[in-house]
Amino acid sequence: PVVKAEGAWLELEDGRRILDAISSWWTTLHGHRHPRLIDALKTQAEQLDHVLFAGVSHPPAALLAKELVSLATTLPAAPGKELSRAFFSDSGSTAVEIALKAAWLCWIRRGQYQRKLFVSLEGGYHGDTCGAMAVSDPDPFFREYGPLLFETVKIPATPEALEATFRSNAGKIAGLIIEPMVQGAAGMVMHPPSFLAAARQICNEHETFLIADEVFTGFGRTGKTFACEHANIAPDFLCLAKGITGGMLPLAATLATEEIFASFLSQEPADAFLHGHSYTANPLACAVALESIRLFKEEDTPRKLNTIGEAIEEGLHSIKAEPWVKEVRRLGGITAVEITSQNPGYLNELSGRLKNEASAHDVLLRPLGNVLYAVPPSCTSQEESKQIAKAIETICRAAAPALQP
Ligand code: PMP
Repeated sequence: PVVKAEGAWLELEDGRRILDAISSWWTTLHGHRHPRLIDALKTQAEQLDHVLFAGVSHPPAALLAKELVSLATTLPAAPGKELSRAFFSDSGSTAVEIALKAAWLCWIRRGQYQRKLFVSLEGGYHGDTCGAMAVSDPDPFFREYGPLLFETVKIPATPEALEATFRSNAGKIAGLIIEPMVQGAAGMVMHPPSFLAAARQICNEHETFLIADEVFTGFGRTGKTFACEHANIAPDFLCLAKGITGGMLPLAATLATEEIFASFLSQEPADAFLHGHSYTANPLACAVALESIRLFKEEDTPRKLNTIGEAIEEGLHSIKAEPWVKEVRRLGGITAVEITSQNPGYLNELSGRLKNEASAHDVLLRPLGNVLYAVPPSCTSQEESKQIAKAIETICRAAAPALQP
């Protein structure tokens, strides 16, 4: 049991301290219990704790929507395709669900009933709700839910696969959903910016939606505010969660273009996008998110995360050439070591061994099968970064070579 947290550290019931090298599932952005976030939370709690977000609004939500839209101007959109609207919810899964439902309904509102097919990437992970599961790779999490899920096409992350799929399904595609630059749960699988550019290009050519799931990659993780910046493209939907509140409270936002918003703007209530969760735009979470974004800008969080990533990668130099290392890869503050294996993937037999080794090193690491990775918060010092790299090296050395022939 974890009883306390501060900065990059978690304190266990027995008094032991462990370094949170994975930012508690990639949520903790600046560090645990950041004093500025605690103050923002207290101040907001004195004003307004919660109110439904239907028929009424409140200042933290309005300000946050403005702030998110302003942050998204870092993504160069085609004229009229700017991400000018934000729809709030409370988790990464709901952020994705909302993008899928809104995309689907847009086509219906436009009379394009044949646009029913979502395209997504092999290895993709978009959340645990039914729509998010449908566009995710069934292996290994969702294998048994097949009959419950709508039909999608899963493709490898190559321009050729995009081209072939869009050609053979011309006019039928409701949207393409991707995790830009880094597929997190797949094992920190990275693709080049050219793939992202090709994804934007083909969605333009086929006049369909590009949905960027930046639930993980958003808020500086890849060394840019949003990963889409690596290819200088803007999606039609941008899904955000995890780091949006600096990791203190659950909140999510789905950004969309004015054109998408306009599809639901009507005097007829039935034309609206009827989707609302009880805790939509919770004021406490919005206030904390606003303060987190202030910090993000003041401290240049993407640069800080990149520096931490550089230090960890540098520390892993000594294992790069080992025969059992398939690849050491990094983008911004995301660093991963993939260990060579005959059957790579989340259920790889190495996972348990790596996990057991990890718990003995006072560093919280959670392997994704045969991939061990670090995604620490931005307060992680150079010393702590070295400690993370050392732990990864030691764990890999202890667990991996035994598997090799
Ligand atoms: N999309 C991506 C890319 C994710 O990595 C995750 C969570 N790991 C989700 C969606 C789902 O987010 P949540 O767990 O907050 O529902």
